[in-house]
Amino acid sequence: MVDLKAQYAPIQDEIEAAVLEVLRSGWYVMGPHHEAFEKEAAAYVGVEHALGVASGTDALHLALRAAGVGRGDEVVTTAFTFVGTVEAILYIGAKPVFADIDPETYNVDPSMIEPVLTSKTKAILPVHLFGRPADMDAIMAIGKAHGIPIVEDAAQSIGARWGDAMTGGIGRAGCFSFYPTKNLNAAGDGGMITTNSDEVAERVRSLRNHGSRRRYHHDEVGYNSRLDEVQAAILRVKLKHVEAYNEGRRRIARRYSELLADADVVTPTEPGHGNHVFHQYTILSERRDAVMAALKEAGSSSGIYYPIPLHRQAFCAEEYADVTLPVTERVAASCMSLPVHPELAAEDVDRIAAVVAESAVAV
Ligand SMILES: *Cc1c(COP(=O)(O)O)cnc(C)c1O
Repeated sequence: MVDLKAQYAPIQDEIEAAVLEVLRSGWYVMGPHHEAFEKEAAAYVGVEHALGVASGTDALHLALRAAGVGRGDEVVTTAFTFVGTVEAILYIGAKPVFADIDPETYNVDPSMIEPVLTSKTKAILPVHLFGRPADMDAIMAIGKAHGIPIVEDAAQSIGARWGDAMTGGIGRAGCFSFYPTKNLNAAGDGGMITTNSDEVAERVRSLRNHGSRRRYHHDEVGYNSRLDEVQAAILRVKLKHVEAYNEGRRRIARRYSELLADADVVTPTEPGHGNHVFHQYTILSERRDAVMAALKEAGSSSGIYYPIPLHRQAFCAEEYADVTLPVTERVAASCMSLPVHPELAAEDVDRIAAVVAESAVAV
């Protein structure tokens, strides 16, 4: 679904020079590249602070804690997401409360949030799934009305805009992942928290570094969760290309949508009030198995993100046995994603679309 070697080739010299420079410098953690990356990433997302951490899951964990979520609290989120979203809540000893999704955007349906709020709700955690912004106007209004902070899971949406704002720069905190498959990716794990709050930034600085603000003084029990210099140096090079990468994804997505306009599949739409950065190009098909088999036969990859919604996963199924999320369940049963990485050749896009159109026809 991605071609990391093809992404690497055109920036190889620049990345290798940056990595060699770090290796020769002897400064491997919390050094100059990390500091510079935080400044550059904060400017890109349009926020006061960006804080490097070790992964996207850590970003969520630390951001929720810094936003005030503690043991026994509830966090409203979606069950149609990567497992890391919910692991972060569970690490704290808080409870994920699932609101159903919107059938067109696959993101949390704002009208489903208010009915599940309780006195224990301490955060709302929307996910900008597949690179499409969640409805942040409605979600921010709910947060404001109830005094509940919004923490954005922007792991799949770096560069996606909601109105004039960037995803990850709207709520109390935004959480990013630089896992190698993401739109902005490291050569390993990495993550980032963005915020306009000095208080959240201070707390994250402490939590990510063993609860320490002053060397050998530990105010609280923290974590070891830092973005290392090698990854920061690589990310600085790639951050300069992220707009072009996203535009490449958008171009491929538009092409698929044109070619599949009359096919027997549901294609993704774009928000009128922002843009979609197509971390995934996800369609719905009643004949998913047949379409995926035909693609495999034709030598193309496809994937299911996500086949089992989180309230049905073994680790929490028992607790959520009584919860039904009809839209989440319906979408999970028919969704499939086509390759949309920016290095994908136009001929491949045309070929993949033709296979999908042909195999998706009801028999
Ligand atoms: C990738 C991802 C994460 C977790 O990020 P890691 O860096 O893999 O820990 C969390 N949420 C979503 C929606 C993701 O796609």
